[in-house]
Amino acid sequence: MDYFDLNMNLTSEDTALREAASKFAKQVMRPVSVQLDQMTPEEAFAPESPYWDYMRQAYQLGYHKLPFPEELGGPGLNPLQIQLIMEELAWGSFGLTLSLNTSLDAAIALAGTEEHVKEFTIPYCQCTDASYVGCWAITEPDHGSDTVMPGYPSFSDPNIPAQCRARLDGDDYVINGQKAAWVSAGPLANRILLMCQIEASKGHAGSGVFVFSLDRPGVAKGKPLNKLGTRDLCQGEVYFDNVRVPKKYLIVGPEHYEKFLEAHLCITLPMVGTWATGLARAGFDEALAYARQRVQGGKLLIDHSNVQQKITDMFRKVEASRQLCRAAFVYNWSHPLNPEKRAIEYSIAAKTFATQTALEVTSDAIQILGGNGISKEYIVEKLFRDARTTLICDGSNDSLSVVCGHKVAGTYPRRSA
Ligand SMILES: Cc1cc2nc3c(=O)[nH]c(=O)nc-3n(C[C@H](O)[C@H](O)[C@H](O)COP(=O)(O)OP(=O)(O)OC[C@H]3O[C@@H](n4cnc5c(N)ncnc54)[C@H](O)[C@@H]3O)c2cc1C
Repeated sequence: MDYFDLNMNLTSEDTALREAASKFAKQVMRPVSVQLDQMTPEEAFAPESPYWDYMRQAYQLGYHKLPFPEELGGPGLNPLQIQLIMEELAWGSFGLTLSLNTSLDAAIALAGTEEHVKEFTIPYCQCTDASYVGCWAITEPDHGSDTVMPGYPSFSDPNIPAQCRARLDGDDYVINGQKAAWVSAGPLANRILLMCQIEASKGHAGSGVFVFSLDRPGVAKGKPLNKLGTRDLCQGEVYFDNVRVPKKYLIVGPEHYEKFLEAHLCITLPMVGTWATGLARAGFDEALAYARQRVQGGKLLIDHSNVQQKITDMFRKVEASRQLCRAAFVYNWSHPLNPEKRAIEYSIAAKTFATQTALEVTSDAIQILGGNGISKEYIVEKLFRDARTTLICDGSNDSLSVVCGHKVAGTYPRRSA
């Protein structure tokens, strides 16, 4: 860990946590991630895959439960410490870091009761063999951006019908429909945080949040998706055919859904931005190391002024990305459930800026490596492919920017409500 940190207030505990994460990222995550990237999706997530060796090691070290307080079995870290560790892990691999966090939703049950905490959060925190795998399912084949734009007029348009719906039948909800191939860990998960429509008259705003175990009749899962980047992250559909879920597993109803989704995005977006910062830094490190040893025109690349300029530009972007993501992360993780204080515009700015940075920095890294940059012998082409997916993950940057624009301009529809 030789990347400098401007924060003068980091404690020795903060730096020790970060160094331990950096070592794990370098020694375990990076090599596994490279291996998985070259496999077919079926091979990558098969029971004998190195993916599961990695997951078990990560669970044993407690990296799957970073946000949880000690009383629930978590490490009791503050938001800054969580952010520091997550950036380091994502330096090792964005996809493997995301894989470790797909269960957080199903385990956090943000608005859940003590009963939900006992059934989901505590077993998750106690898990050391990676057998508890959760997923968050919101995207539908015909509704991606539609589902992640709280406050935007189309979000409450009853003429935009959902493809996954729940209706009350006695003491159970009956769920029918499907969630899209983008659900992270969908094919592997045994628990779910499901966002699906209950009141069609309110459009997507009429949805609810369910948390339940997936071993129910009528649940089916798709195959791991084959994709450009983050190939070490398993994604695939979850299908529901008359799945009965007792109503106690509805943790947020349509009346609070829109606010819940906003709170959810407030905490997940700077997390994605933080991972993208780690990914961008990985690209920067590769380019800098290469420029320090490659000779062209009779001198090291790093001694050419245009290369120095590019390196400076990359450094500036990574550093700006880190500062914005860290500030948004610490701020919004400090009071996610307080609608008066939380500030979604900063979370969106952090996610969109950092993911764009990851794309630009990894692209510049390829340029500095020249022909080697596009060769599978070097990691930068993988980092670039991984970076491309982050601009769509957790909401496309374009659609999120529309929500941010409304908020910043003061035209956010719900602000005056
Ligand atoms: C790595 C990764 C991980 C993911 N993990 C999960 C997960 O765990 N769970 C889950 O449910 N989903 C997940 N997703 C899905 C992700 O949230 C969606 O892909 C995203 O919301 C975009 O939806 P879409 O792909 O349907 O694109 P679309 O909504 O079809 O959008 C395509 C493009 O159209 C434009 N556009 C669309 N609507 C608007 C609008 N209203 N205003 C302006 N422009 C618009 C934008 O340019 C956008 O980029 C993941 C995706 C990725 C890439």
